[in-house]
Amino acid sequence: MLTQYHIEIMLNSLGDRFGPRAMSEIIMANINQDSLIGQFGHDEFHFDNNAFEKTYAYMDEQRALTISSLQRNDTSSAWSAFGRFLHTAQDFYAHSNYITLWLSRFNGSTPPPPPEVDPVDETLLNSPNLRSGKVYYPFELLYFIRPLRPHVLPFIPRDSHAWMNLDSPEQGFKFDYAMQAAIKRTQIELEKLASDLSRDSLKLFLEW
Ligand SMILES: [Zn+2]
Repeated sequence: MLTQYHIEIMLNSLGDRFGPRAMSEIIMANINQDSLIGQFGHDEFHFDNNAFEKTYAYMDEQRALTISSLQRNDTSSAWSAFGRFLHTAQDFYAHSNYITLWLSRFNGSTPPPPPEVDPVDETLLNSPNLRSGKVYYPFELLYFIRPLRPHVLPFIPRDSHAWMNLDSPEQGFKFDYAMQAAIKRTQIELEKLASDLSRDSLKLFLEW
């Protein structure tokens, strides 16, 4: 997802839950995953290249780091780790075919509106048909240069990040579903985390 949409997702899903310092540190860590250094060789940051195992391991690691940092009263590290964790959780809907699979259930009829998307359908999360976009170099680099897009797309395979991504509204109606799924998933992940934290840790984390 493009940076502005990660920020929009964060504000929509968590804006009224965290204090201002916490919110800004979480957002900074989230969007920093898309810095130039985070873009290359880090499939696990963005759910790219079907690297599902590596990605789930990375998410588990960042989640555990959030909890252990809070146990040491290190809120800054906890907020950063949670921001990194959420970036990956949100990119899942933009870089995998989850939304396409969910929508395909309504083939032939009008699908429910985007706010009704289920972001954690167990059958789809475990589906053998679940894929994420492959990153084909060097074409994928050229794809990032907007004026070149129409010229390079015909040379990039259909199972690529370039063809599959739902990173911005330009990609069509599925983008709204990816946004709503990412918003809901972010809220679910906060609730899950909260249930694993002590009262004191949660208070510290939310910056009450
Ligand atoms: Zn990303």
